Amino acid sequence: MKTLKERILKDGHCLEGGILKVDNFINHQIDAALMMDIAKEFVKRFENTRIDKVITVEASGIAPAIMVAHLLNVPLLFAKKKVPSTMTGILKSEVFSFTKSRSYNICISDKFLQKGEKCLFIDDFLANGNAATGILDLVSQAGAEIAGMGFIIEKVFQKGGELLRNKGIHVESLAIIKSLDNCNIEFV
Ligand code: 5GP
Repeated sequence: MKTLKERILKDGHCLEGGILKVDNFINHQIDAALMMDIAKEFVKRFENTRIDKVITVEASGIAPAIMVAHLLNVPLLFAKKKVPSTMTGILKSEVFSFTKSRSYNICISDKFLQKGEKCLFIDDFLANGNAATGILDLVSQAGAEIAGMGFIIEKVFQKGGELLRNKGIHVESLAIIKSLDNCNIEFV
């Protein structure tokens, strides 16, 4: 997606350890118009896929995912990182955070995910695929299915994309980064 790549080059910053900071238009301050264009692109790329529900992980996945859900006229379900005391029918999975270097649990209530439902997972970044693997686990615990996975930015020098595609999952990434070496953003 050309406009997204241009924006990453203009406003993205490389941090130590292969991390890209995009907090002025995706992760903290959000460019809503760009986010809507991102959502439209996801809808186009999954146009022949049955999608009953969009699923993401709080917090950064919610902005793109809610716009995709709105365009598809389906609900958005986001996995929470803290178990609310009022939650019933808890499904949980452990995820290792690449940016925070620690594990945390993600959870959803089983009342919002039914057997046989086809889910589109949307997230901001694909790095090692840990968040995506946690979502796969939750979806399978509920007896639902992943119809596809869409990422705003994929870092192909990490192994998540390969891992998910090798499982036969339809993965779409709108900007694919080959390298962040020497603080230089290089796309595939
Ligand atoms: P994964 O689970 O695929 O290893 O990492 C994906 C998650 O880690 C994303 O949900 C995102 O929040 C975070 N993440 C991974 N790499 C980056 C990065 O380069 N920049 C930012 N801002 N977040 C990242």
